[in-house]
Amino acid sequence: NLSDKLNAVFKKLKGRGTLTEKNIEEGLKQVRLALLEADVNYRVAKKVISDIKERALGQDVMDSLTPGQQIVKIVYDEFTTMMGDEHEALNFGGATPASIMLVGLQGSGKTTTAGKLALFLRKNGRKPYLVPVDVYRPAAIEQLQKLGSQIGVPVFPSTAQMAPVDICTEAVRSAINEGCDTLLIDTAGRLHIDEELMAELEAIKKSIKPSEILLVADAMTGQDAVNIAESFDKRLNLGGVILSKMDGDARGGAALSIKAVTGKPLKFIGVGEKTTALEPFYPDRMASRILGMGDTLSFIEKAQEAVDIKKAEELEKKLRKNQFTLEDFMDQISSVRKMGSIKELIGMLPGINKKQLAGMNIDDREFVRIEAIINSMTPQERRDHAIIKGSRKKRIAMGSGTTVQDVNKLLKSYTQAMKVVKKFNKGGLRSLKNMLPF
Ligand code: GDP
Ligand code: MG
Repeated sequence: NLSDKLNAVFKKLKGRGTLTEKNIEEGLKQVRLALLEADVNYRVAKKVISDIKERALGQDVMDSLTPGQQIVKIVYDEFTTMMGDEHEALNFGGATPASIMLVGLQGSGKTTTAGKLALFLRKNGRKPYLVPVDVYRPAAIEQLQKLGSQIGVPVFPSTAQMAPVDICTEAVRSAINEGCDTLLIDTAGRLHIDEELMAELEAIKKSIKPSEILLVADAMTGQDAVNIAESFDKRLNLGGVILSKMDGDARGGAALSIKAVTGKPLKFIGVGEKTTALEPFYPDRMASRILGMGDTLSFIEKAQEAVDIKKAEELEKKLRKNQFTLEDFMDQISSVRKMGSIKELIGMLPGINKKQLAGMNIDDREFVRIEAIINSMTPQERRDHAIIKGSRKKRIAMGSGTTVQDVNKLLKSYTQAMKVVKKFNKGGLRSLKNMLPF
């Protein structure tokens, strides 16, 4: 993994007193190897290295940092720049209603991403309309219909007998009738790029003039994703790229190279199969994630979304008065759960690498157990955990289908949480993280 490799390089540089041309040279050779192994485009890697070298030997270097830190900082800046510096928002310009066309190879994640984007747009105040256009693959239309009903977003009733262009033009009318302002066009894919596919996509583009065409590419395919982006861009002039499956052990090469090779920005990344597993792409955060600095910002953003600030302040008050009950504890936990899979979240924290994560015993089912245990308590017990002794513990364990050990574990993490939470001030965000029962 790129971040492990780079960290090893940086560690070696740490011991050095000053940054000399020789140790920069040596360090960069290894950075270059790490980049190539992570499937970063060859030309891009070469350019990155020469840019980094220039910066390292130039005046960008800060005296306050150790040589290792300086290199990390320079690499971080370089990565951020090559990925585009700023987050590029979606484009809704042109015709009304706006339409976003998703294109890509089969299995790249178009349909899943259509659902994720619909949810994202709705959270941002838009009224999305899903349009299944994959009339070839069996059950492709149903897949999107199912997603739509799951997230409560209307889906155009396409049938496999309709022609793709007809579907799109009719869907525009239908979206207006439904009061929607943004169509998400889920197009068909192929195993390989072929003329027929491209011609169909061009015809759709011509008929509805989308505000934006986004390529969905599988991050796991590394350099292939970049080549695919190049080919689609040539024919369709992409507005941007979404890299799916960044949650797997994608080597990071695709994310690093796409902008540099195609000139088109990465706009979102897919980080899981759930409809909430989509993140706007921020070059600086990705750079820090690749460098193993964690992704604190994304984590905080997600947490803020899930945690009602008012509620957090209320809890804060309760804590100060020692009135933070097991019921409040459960509340806190369910707001953490709203954020998505716990592993996904923990993975964003600094200092956690994938290997550690795999070894960690994090189980979302743990939460189900906690809820069951707290639900089996009497209101009095929830308000005052001190009264929960031997026979009560047995009863609670029985009622929740758990063991006395589980009950003890829960009470322990609750009392620990209380201690930890008390130390923190406003927002309760950090406390939230510390309250996770592992
Ligand atoms: P399509 O053929 O391009 O429409 O691809 P699908 O949307 O049907 O996705 C293909 C497979 O990839 C499905 O099993 C999805 O659940 C999975 N998938 C899509 N996006 C992600 C992602 O970000 N992470 C993971 N782990 N799986 C994904
Ligand atoms: Mg599909």
